[in-house]
Amino acid sequence: MDISKEKLDNYIKNQHTPICSFCGNNTWNISSKIFELLEFDANGLQLGGPVYPVVPITCNNCGNTLFINALVAGLLEQKFPNNGGI
Ligand SMILES: [Zn+2]
Repeated sequence: MDISKEKLDNYIKNQHTPICSFCGNNTWNISSKIFELLEFDANGLQLGGPVYPVVPITCNNCGNTLFINALVAGLLEQKFPNNGGI
């Protein structure tokens, strides 16, 4: 799912640029798309459980990746019946 450019620009503008805890770099690439994290189940994909909508932010130097919860960050406007355990 795409994030509106306005919401993404506003989010970035209001954040401090973190230092990468792996390499010390301070340049990052933020995705313009929302992905989802599902609970791992060794028996296979389980549908209907909690889903965390996340936006990856990747260190441009080493690839260390942070996940921002799109609901908490206000990057997702839609409401879901099971909204990621929040
Ligand atoms: Zn890094």
